[in-house]
Amino acid sequence: MMQTLERAGDLKGRRVLVRADFDVPVTDGRITETFRIERQKENLHYLLDRGARVTLAAHISAVPSFEPLVPQLAELLGVELNWLTSDGLVTLLENTRQNPGEKENDEAFARTLADGHDLYVNNAFAVCHRAHASVVAVAALLPAYAGLLVEQETTRLREAIDAPAAGKVIVMGGAKASTKVPVIRELIGKADHVLVGGVVANDVLVARGEDVGVSVVDTDVIELLRGMDVRDPRLDVPTDFVDTDSKHLDIGPATAQRYADAIVAAKMVVWNGPMGVFEDARYAAGTAAVASAVANAPLSIVGGGDTIAAIRGAGIALDRYAFVSTGGGAMLAFLAGEHLPGLVALNYYT
Ligand code: ADP
Ligand code: MG
Repeated sequence: MMQTLERAGDLKGRRVLVRADFDVPVTDGRITETFRIERQKENLHYLLDRGARVTLAAHISAVPSFEPLVPQLAELLGVELNWLTSDGLVTLLENTRQNPGEKENDEAFARTLADGHDLYVNNAFAVCHRAHASVVAVAALLPAYAGLLVEQETTRLREAIDAPAAGKVIVMGGAKASTKVPVIRELIGKADHVLVGGVVANDVLVARGEDVGVSVVDTDVIELLRGMDVRDPRLDVPTDFVDTDSKHLDIGPATAQRYADAIVAAKMVVWNGPMGVFEDARYAAGTAAVASAVANAPLSIVGGGDTIAAIRGAGIALDRYAFVSTGGGAMLAFLAGEHLPGLVALNYYT
């Protein structure tokens, strides 16, 4: 059974290694999307309020070193950060991905992280689908606990899987179809409708033998789709598009309306992936219509880095959704029923 923080006993004076998730976009030395970092605050302050001393280990893919970002990270977290030194209450370690041992799940690197700590807290749901040293190997070296965010993510996503099929709508779009089609395969029998857009929709259409012109297609997933019933009546594909040069770049207005109607009538909606190339205003309307319909659904679970960017772009506040996952790939792997290595290391499945 996964050990949650409330089972960690008295935290006063204990030295806690936290695997945090700071993997955000950085432009010109500034963090431009702060959602994931804000979601670390609750767990960090929980530990500090109980008298723990905290070391933060995390990665940011977009930059080699954390050093130039330390002041902004400190401000976003609302704490004083001690860069590489354990003088104060919160120590920040260097970007874990600077060490080649991180991705190799290297025990020696994990040992350098664990050194000097009494317990380990994994609060990085978004990397739980990776067998990395700061996520997996380290969990065997110290008493390991799930942080508040990992507890919330697993609880809410589990609820979404287990909710009755009647009234449940899954919306899948975006480009990384190889991570989304397994979710469709897993959840189609547990939902009323699966609405698809983006490259995912192009793939389903190709698997159905339809012509998508020169639209972007993720050929890797066609095989996977052919092994499924792509004509399942619950699987709903776009019937009109916004095209440029024979390329589908957004779902069309009729499809956007039909999808929005299905979404607002649902009891629960799970949404990942934009309906089109929302970065270009000409192709943003389909995604904006879906974002707004999902915000009006009684219970909504959304996730995906680009999905969150599209929601922001549509001017919709994230708190309009019941739960916004910090996990992109991790959320999808969890929903697809995979066993995530980081959660295995926390005994989530046993
Ligand atoms: P998320 O990060 O929310 O999981 P993805 O990374 O899978 O989403 O996909 C987002 C990307 O998909 C966006 O950059 C968007 O431009 C692209 N996209 C969406 N629809 C299409 C399309 N029809 N053709 C090409 N790219 C698309
Ligand atoms: Mg993305």
